[in-house]
Amino acid sequence: MAGVLYLCPTPIGNLKDASERVIETLSSVDLIAAEDTRNSLKLMNAFDIHVPMTSYHEYNKTQKAITLIEKLKEGTNIALITDAGTPAISDPGEVLVDMCIEEGIKVTSLPGPCACIVALTLSGLSSRRFCFEGFLPSDKKERNAVLEELKIEHRTVILYEAPHHLVNTLSQLRDTLGEDRRIVLCRELTKKFEEAVRTTIGEAIAMYEDKEPRGEYVLVVEGIDRKEEEESRKNDWVSIDIESHMKIYTDKGMDKKEAMKAVAKDRGISKSEVYKALL
Ligand code: SAM
Repeated sequence: MAGVLYLCPTPIGNLKDASERVIETLSSVDLIAAEDTRNSLKLMNAFDIHVPMTSYHEYNKTQKAITLIEKLKEGTNIALITDAGTPAISDPGEVLVDMCIEEGIKVTSLPGPCACIVALTLSGLSSRRFCFEGFLPSDKKERNAVLEELKIEHRTVILYEAPHHLVNTLSQLRDTLGEDRRIVLCRELTKKFEEAVRTTIGEAIAMYEDKEPRGEYVLVVEGIDRKEEEESRKNDWVSIDIESHMKIYTDKGMDKKEAMKAVAKDRGISKSEVYKALL
């Protein structure tokens, strides 16, 4: 019978957050695939787990997945862990899970610590609808495209960031979302110096003018307010006169009546106001 792949979340700062089920699973599998075996040794020692480990990380994730799948097919039960938190969330794992599913191997995911959920629930921002962006792409073009998308995101946005990139990311968020947007900087979650600074993007940047960011961060950013979005859309059009605005639509093939309707909607005014301005 084929083995099972167990996705095991590990503590993000507090050893007591390892669940009984995770410890039990890690102790009973045949092999543990870990992002950094040396780093995970601390966890193994803390829980007296003596199961062979093998590395599974960003740089061997496809090749090593093939080897692990062969073992799973032979009946080896494998647990996947990363340095901290839930495997496959901004961590290697997604590729292995996908390949296991393709091969018909059973995958099961244990619930447990995940920095983005801890931060969201702690933030006090709306958790009814949220989106997780993880780390913004490092490629400039891709990064700008994502930032542009965030400009019109209504849901609460969760981002991961390393301390040495924090100020740069905050500056880009300010340039895209404005300095008044609410943000919660969640730092060192579940650790001794855990903090959640509820502020605005502008104030967050000012905060780090004379001190260096330290520790691990999750940024929770408020989504755009519908009214604010409407205002900013209207303001985009104010820079051109109504005649040029009409021309954009008539050039697209709209008749005058349709164009007037579209212009009125964009500018948040009535059709008769557009008509009067054209006269
Ligand atoms: N898989 C992990 C999870 O479930 O959250 C995330 C791994 S990702 C490589 C590491 C990032 O998660 C860090 O750069 C930071 O943004 C966030 N993170 C992890 N632990 C954290 C903590 N204790 N406090 C704040 N952020 C943390």
